Amino acid sequence: MSLDSRWFTEVVEQTGTAFSLKLGSRVHAERTPYQNIEIYRTETFGYLMVIDGCTMVSTRDNFLYHEMMSHPALNSHPDPRDVAIIGGGDCGTLREVLKHPEVRRAVQVEIDERVTRLAEQYFPELCASNADPRAQLHFGDGIAWMKNAPPESLDLVIIDSTDPVGPAEGLFGAKFYRDCLKALRPGGLLVQQSESPLLHQELISQIHYHLREAGFARTHLLHFPQPIYPSGWWSASLAQKSAQPLVERLEPDRLAALDTRYYNAAIHRAAFALPNFLRETLAA
Ligand code: SAM
Repeated sequence: MSLDSRWFTEVVEQTGTAFSLKLGSRVHAERTPYQNIEIYRTETFGYLMVIDGCTMVSTRDNFLYHEMMSHPALNSHPDPRDVAIIGGGDCGTLREVLKHPEVRRAVQVEIDERVTRLAEQYFPELCASNADPRAQLHFGDGIAWMKNAPPESLDLVIIDSTDPVGPAEGLFGAKFYRDCLKALRPGGLLVQQSESPLLHQELISQIHYHLREAGFARTHLLHFPQPIYPSGWWSASLAQKSAQPLVERLEPDRLAALDTRYYNAAIHRAAFALPNFLRETLAA
């Protein structure tokens, strides 16, 4: 939604918030069978992808989200070999996952191929690992894919989806979480983008409740800055198939090799630190 042709503005009525970026111009717009996709060139954030009016990814600040949706979970698992990314069509999370040499297969299940094709055109830096022999790009509904995933075939599931509406709605419920649990090996982890810790506490509480209802042994909340999303403060919810304490694979040389711009050992630990006002949110 644009209030003034020189600005892109996302207005969120439910939370009474809005976010704007000064434009250049809108360089692409199309309606796919799943959603409306727009690409803007902005004055200070590079390109901006918008899906159904919601900001998705910008050239300037996507590293915060993609690094935090992948490295904390991967470094909390002793040996993550097989990874599934549900959604993630801009391929930024896939690129971060494939920085881990122990990962032998990363399958990305994106419902809308046009998101990836537009990312290849406007965010080629995010698609830099798409030709990695370990990468598998599958275009289809993540709900159906997970239902058919072989039991105990995955070590990590990353749910990098749009907000819980439209095609993504079913990715935020116990039925889908049970299918994820079945597909995970013992010790397996799930991490899901879970909206703003400030604006969406009710949703976060529901996500953690449904994860535990589906049979996950423990859940955690990760939080990090993400300027283009509502409130500028975002979260990911991490769930463990088994109750053993999370490992911390934070060896300096291994982290240095990940070549991250935000994530490091201190950020890893701080992201898991739960702000006081969220304690009852997760206890519900
Ligand atoms: N970082 C963004 C965020 O937090 O809103 C998400 C980025 S990525 C572009 C989100 C992707 O989820 C979209 O490309 C969308 O097509 C995909 N998606 C939504 N529902 C899906 C489903 N059921 N299966 C697979 N992909 C889905």
